[in-house]
Formats: sequence, structure tokens, C-alpha cells
Amino acid sequence: MKPTALVAGNWKMNGLAASRAELEALGRFVESGADADCDILICPPFTLVGSFAAAAPETIKIGAQDCHANKSGAHTGDVSAEMLRDAGASHVIVGHSERRADHGETSEQVRAKAEAVHGEGMVAIVCVGETEAERDAGDTLAVVLDQVAKSVPGAATPKDTVVAYEPVWAIGTGRTPTVGDVAEVHTAIRGALVTRFGDIGAGFSLLYGGSVKPANAAELMAADNVNGALVGGASLKASDFNGIIEAYRK
Ligand code: PEP
Repeated sequence: MKPTALVAGNWKMNGLAASRAELEALGRFVESGADADCDILICPPFTLVGSFAAAAPETIKIGAQDCHANKSGAHTGDVSAEMLRDAGASHVIVGHSERRADHGETSEQVRAKAEAVHGEGMVAIVCVGETEAERDAGDTLAVVLDQVAKSVPGAATPKDTVVAYEPVWAIGTGRTPTVGDVAEVHTAIRGALVTRFGDIGAGFSLLYGGSVKPANAAELMAADNVNGALVGGASLKASDFNGIIEAYRK
């Protein structure tokens, strides 16, 4: 099974009701541009998931940025995977480095969230990535592969799980690893997935994330074992995000 390419936008804590205009503008770009050989996903904040899912054209999927591992209960302020599925989400990002850092999420908790996403028939986008100190210490592969081993559920399949490699030091900084460094990490993740899951390990989509922009998307997306992008800042403007999708147009 060949991985399906995915270009996913993570809006983080940005967006109000009026931001639907940006989603609609993206829909127009996608409609009028040449066919893109990738799935397209926007993950707005929780408050917009329902209205975006209702408004999105078929060509754009809507996802969320996190969920609780439990289905329901006394967890004030949290949102379950079931609620997100009910609101129209098809994907949920889990284990983003901002959640690992700001909320102390461990890989074991990330795996439980991914399992909750799978339980609702949605796709979990499992994020992994090293800090700058870990890269400088030469620990990148060890850190990333440990996160993959612990965060990706044992029952994961390419249909319900995407892995996003996002070096923490590249997120929102305008800095990116070299294409060779990206390929090295992605190829190591691929190898770990094949070792663990057998042949189906070759089918998981592996996204690169961290300062992807229209200007560098084609080069990064062409790296070995890169099957798409997880995009933060440049996903907020339809024209920028469309410029990244361009990497998948013939
Ligand atoms: C992200 O938050 O997942 C991300 C990759 O952000 P940015 O594209 O802004 O670096």
C-alpha cells in the first residue's frame, strides 16, 4: 500500500467565526486549481470544528488539534474524540509538541488519545520531534523513534494513523532541517514502522512539519519518505496554504 499524501493545516489557537471566509477561499483555490494528488485537511480550534465541517467542500477535510482519551466524564474543559467525530471531524492531531511541552503530555498519554481517536473511526495524526538540545546532543533519532514506539498504538494501521515528524526547534521559527536531515529521520521512522508492523508499515503516511512555506514545500515534500506536510502559520491564509498544496499538483 502506497502512503496517501496529506497536506494538513494546524490553526492552533487562531480563528474566529469570521475565519470561515479563509476556509471558503481555500475551497475556491482547490476547486479552480489543477487536481492535487493529496488529501487536504484543516484543523481549526475546537470552537470552529462543527461550523467548518458543515461549511467545508468535499475536497477539504476538517480535523481537531487534540482530544481527551476518555469518551465522556468529569474532565472540565476537555473534549472527547466522540464529540469531535459528532461535530464532523475526520482527523485529530495528538501529541503536538506544544501539548507535550505546555501540558506535560507523555507518549503513553498520546497513545491513549490516538486509541480514542481510532475508537471513533477517525484518523490520528501522531506528532513526534526532537528539541534543539536533543538534536545538538546527537539524540534526534533515539528521541524520535522512542516517541514513535510509545505514541503509536500497537493496533495502528495506515488507514487510521499518520505520523508527523516536527522538530520542535523548526516550529514557528522559520528554520528547517536540511532536506537530507528530514529524509534521514523519515527513513528511520519508516524502518521502525516496517520492523514493528511488517509490510503495512510501508503504507503509513509520514508528514514533515516545521516552518513549511510555499517557497520550501516542493523541496521538503520531495524528500525520501515524506508524504505530506503538517503546517502551522502558513495554513492560516488560504493563499499560502494553497501554495503548499501546489507541491502536489502535476
Ligand atoms: C505546527 O505547529 O505543527 C507547525 C508545523 O507550525 P509552523 O508551520 O508554523 O512551523
